[in-house]
Amino acid sequence: MKRRKWTICLLALAVALGISGCGQGNTVSAAEPLILQVGPMQPVKPQRAQLIGEKEAIIEYAAPLAFVLEYPRTSNEAINNQILEIVQGLKAQFAEKYDLKDEEAKKRLSQKDCKSFLYLDYDSYLVSDDKICIVFHETQEPGQGMASMERVYIYHFDTNTGQRISEEELRKDGFLEAASAYTIKYFTENEPYKDRIFGDYKTTLAPNGGRFDRFALNSEGVVFYFNQYDIFPGSMGTVELLIPYSELAGLLNGVGVEAPPVIEEEATPPVEPVENSERNIDPQKPMVALTFDDGPNPVHTERILDALEKYNVVATFFDLGSLVEAYPDTVKREIALGCEVGSHSYSHKNFNTLSKEAIAEDVRMTAEAFRNAIGFEPILFRPPYGNCNDFVKSHMPLAMVTWSVDTLDWKSKDPKAIMNVIRSEGNLDGKVILMHGIYETSAKATEQMVPYLLENGYQLVTVSEILQYKHGMQLEGGTYYGYNYFQ
Ligand code: ZN
Repeated sequence: MKRRKWTICLLALAVALGISGCGQGNTVSAAEPLILQVGPMQPVKPQRAQLIGEKEAIIEYAAPLAFVLEYPRTSNEAINNQILEIVQGLKAQFAEKYDLKDEEAKKRLSQKDCKSFLYLDYDSYLVSDDKICIVFHETQEPGQGMASMERVYIYHFDTNTGQRISEEELRKDGFLEAASAYTIKYFTENEPYKDRIFGDYKTTLAPNGGRFDRFALNSEGVVFYFNQYDIFPGSMGTVELLIPYSELAGLLNGVGVEAPPVIEEEATPPVEPVENSERNIDPQKPMVALTFDDGPNPVHTERILDALEKYNVVATFFDLGSLVEAYPDTVKREIALGCEVGSHSYSHKNFNTLSKEAIAEDVRMTAEAFRNAIGFEPILFRPPYGNCNDFVKSHMPLAMVTWSVDTLDWKSKDPKAIMNVIRSEGNLDGKVILMHGIYETSAKATEQMVPYLLENGYQLVTVSEILQYKHGMQLEGGTYYGYNYFQ
């Protein structure tokens, strides 16, 4: 995703400290770790560090606004309450600025009218035995011709007391001066920074200039974030600089330099779908495909799966890569029950605003998430919000699919209303029904919908099977299968 900027990883120092995790780029002799000019250093992607607690997500369409907010839930309730307050606060601020004030006009909007997007994701770090750090990355896409904006919010917590720790409490005298000196040296000696740093950087990056007051501690060192347009051109986005603890020795309170144990990731063997001998599809009989977006959710998707299992039927799940990482067992169960699993992107961005590179990066990250969870990559993609313009179509390597019946479950949050949509739709043969796997009300509706469809003579099939049996087509990467395929 867009916000994943480059963290500068000082390989020489990392080698000297025995820290692993910055896998590529040039290495220099450990004998000269303090010489920062090491030739064309490769910025190295920061390791995704989501070590703390479980990932929670608020995905909410409140046209013209849409929210995709991810945050951690820890084992400490006091910390959780503060985190939730932070997330709700950012959401309220965004709504205050960009929501439509005319309530009547708002009622007429649909999911496709979501024009202003707020995204929040995070990294979390175990700093020491009793300290954690949560770094929120916010992206605002207000739409209406306004440029998108990135911001970073940093919080440290004491895991014993649940109290927030300010950065002022963490740093000692001399910290600001050391951080300033290091940063100026680094940015003026290394590519791609040295030729791009703005004019009066010595003033901007002075110890008392305010740029070093806020920082994030992780297991390797201190990370500073420089906002878009602050000291570099906006095209560089938010710039992160990691200063290893060894460079700031004695300048922090109660933070060690020990590296965390490296957790080896095991390759996941592919999950085999259960061979379901009773699921012989009769091409002559009516068929319909249920689809569930925005999951997996460890509670509501599981309940949907219970219903499918009970009636021995399948559906198609369009999962978010970031949630696949958080809840791999639910995705494994989707596959194990014979369901079809497709991508719904990594974090539900509006693809109509993405560059070619950002699309490719999203596909890559999502594929990796699925590979780690179930051993293979999806070939099917359902664009978030159904937004799939010609540019997206020409750069998306996966087969793109839409739906044909929108239950509006995200809006009504009412099983009765959802069932009414289905009942009033008329003939459902060959149709693809859109639902969301993240609401209790959608799970409840599924429990009614499945027996209703079976009683009315429909076979429940996957989206691929609709294409295969109704149109004689096999899914092809890069092809768009729009509404008229599912009528
Ligand atoms: Zn969605």
